[in-house]
Amino acid sequence: MIFKERGLLLVLSGPSGVGKGTVCRALREDEDNNLHYSVSCTTRKPREGEVDGVHYFFKTREEFESMIANNQLLEHAEFVGNYYGTPVEWVNKILDEGKDVILEIEVQGAMQVKEHFPEAVFLFLAPPSLQELRNRLVGRGTESEEVIKQRLLVAKEEIEMMDAYDYVVTNDEIHKACDRIQAIVTAEHCSRERV
Ligand code: 5GP
Repeated sequence: MIFKERGLLLVLSGPSGVGKGTVCRALREDEDNNLHYSVSCTTRKPREGEVDGVHYFFKTREEFESMIANNQLLEHAEFVGNYYGTPVEWVNKILDEGKDVILEIEVQGAMQVKEHFPEAVFLFLAPPSLQELRNRLVGRGTESEEVIKQRLLVAKEEIEMMDAYDYVVTNDEIHKACDRIQAIVTAEHCSRERV
């Protein structure tokens, strides 16, 4: 008999604008997989259309710092002037139920997850080129020119961290990137199955 293990923890990083959100949405909408998306906390202001508790849990800096002090976050990082972090309790609960969890987080946070969950699977979503990344960030129209500049600088640093990840998936087309990620998830499950 094959026994049920804890779910798989997937960590998806990649530079701002590469399409992590779109890829995650497409993966979650596909009913064939068992992926549960962790909603992060942030001190960033909501963008138009973002809903508290759906896209993020929007927090003040004081609220966020008290979550850090109370060990309520699996990891946290400061990114272009705002805090971002993953609520730990929900992640552990879903993994214990044998379901897979995907975290869409930046590189510093991913490295913290590596310390606490070395068995997690680390995926880096890469843009076809830096120019294409810039086009996507500008085209998205959610950030000022100054913030885009800062995000592109961070993007270069993040791309240098690619080697710390188990897999690099190029996001040339959403459906291709999703297919590659699905294949990785299937392979990782098979590699852990024991009779
Ligand atoms: P955005 O402001 O574009 O929503 O997110 C900025 C960056 O923060 C993205 O790279 C996103 O993946 C990352 N991020 C979102 N949630 C978390 C989190 O909980 N922890 C960490 N470390 N990064 C996060």
